[in-house]
Amino acid sequence: MFFSQEHELVRELARDFAKKILEPTAQEMDEKEDFPMDIYNEMGRLGFFGIKIPKEYGGLGLDTRSYACVMEELSRKNVCAGVLVSAANSLGTAPILLVGTEEQKQKYLPPIAGGKSFMAFGLTEPNAGSDAGSMTASAVPDGDSYILNGRKTFITGAPIADWITVFAKTSPEKGSKGITCFFVDMKQQGVSIGKQEEKMGQRAIPACDVLLEDVRVPKSEILGDIDKGFVTAMKTLSVGRIGVACQALGVSENAMDLAIPYMKERKQFGKTLSKFQGLQFLLAELETKLNAAKLLIYNAAYEMDAGRDVTKAASMAKYYATETCLEIVSGALQMFGGYGYSKEYPIERLYRDARVMTIYEGTTQVQQMVIAGQLLK
Ligand SMILES: Cc1cc2nc3c(=O)[nH]c(=O)nc-3n(C[C@H](O)[C@H](O)[C@H](O)COP(=O)(O)OP(=O)(O)OC[C@H]3O[C@@H](n4cnc5c(N)ncnc54)[C@H](O)[C@@H]3O)c2cc1C
Repeated sequence: MFFSQEHELVRELARDFAKKILEPTAQEMDEKEDFPMDIYNEMGRLGFFGIKIPKEYGGLGLDTRSYACVMEELSRKNVCAGVLVSAANSLGTAPILLVGTEEQKQKYLPPIAGGKSFMAFGLTEPNAGSDAGSMTASAVPDGDSYILNGRKTFITGAPIADWITVFAKTSPEKGSKGITCFFVDMKQQGVSIGKQEEKMGQRAIPACDVLLEDVRVPKSEILGDIDKGFVTAMKTLSVGRIGVACQALGVSENAMDLAIPYMKERKQFGKTLSKFQGLQFLLAELETKLNAAKLLIYNAAYEMDAGRDVTKAASMAKYYATETCLEIVSGALQMFGGYGYSKEYPIERLYRDARVMTIYEGTTQVQQMVIAGQLLK
């Protein structure tokens, strides 16, 4: 209903890659806290980092549904791969596609699309998370440049990033209406990174603070209009939410893929777990919720491809798919009993990987605020 034959071919390509390359390496990546560069490069070669980037800027120029197919299939075998793909296709490039100049598009998009460079997204600060508009990072004009100061926190991929889009206050008296977005080179004088966060899950993806101390940024590196950066950030997150929802969908499917064969194999009271109606009912409930999440996501992607405003649809997809994912990984782990709590079985990793999804790119409560805001406007 939502997909053409072309979408299915894209899905097939991602599924094949995920099965051959991501599934066998997922556990080791988690243990070593490392995403191997050869796998990253291969993902770049296949075009996964530029699915939505137009062909003239080195991308595949495909639509949101193609992106959703790839995200779902990669995340089904290793969500860390899905995180990297969404970092490139949404947080890294959506702001450039939304408001970048032609020169900025030519400079930044091709290397990101090919996986040769990584663009981090610097919005959150230690005291400004859900309330991002209350940030204190500052950008003060000085001749042909701006001088940036501040601290961004929980920045995905900061240690591997070549550049970061930094949101900073240019007109502090205007609150969230006084924020501007800047491209900052991570090698620039005054830019440094903090220690890597010790995260519960998604351990192959590094996140850490980015500190800006008197960083001089030329005016040509302003992204979009002065004082309009907050709108760009919010629009970017709207695109990103479909990606996070797909991560959750993939992890939910993985959990079901693991639980069902285990139920058919594990015996207690002389029967396999699959024969207990109590567990059958739980399985049926989880499968139903998974499919409801899937429909919300596919619908949001379809609506985006049709050019309609997806603010509400993307928030509903992210909210429901990520909350449901927590229920599904928890329910699937329950099927495994004590073994589910052991690192011997991958369901333990899925349980940890899933937990952050109701938090980043807008918490569940923020999604609820967006949905209600759209209904009551
Ligand atoms: C692994 C990871 C990667 C991340 N990557 C990035 C990145 O690359 N770039 C970036 O900029 N940020 C990133 N973040 C930051 C992330 O977006 C924030 O953590 C998130 O927006 C929540 O902000 P906070 O952690 O400050 O929580 P807070 O905003 O302090 O929220 C705490 C709790 O209060 C609730 N809450 C807050 N306000 C309200 C309200 N008005 N009504 C009801 N409940 C409310 C929240 O929902 C939450 O449950 C990342 C975070 C993590 C954990």
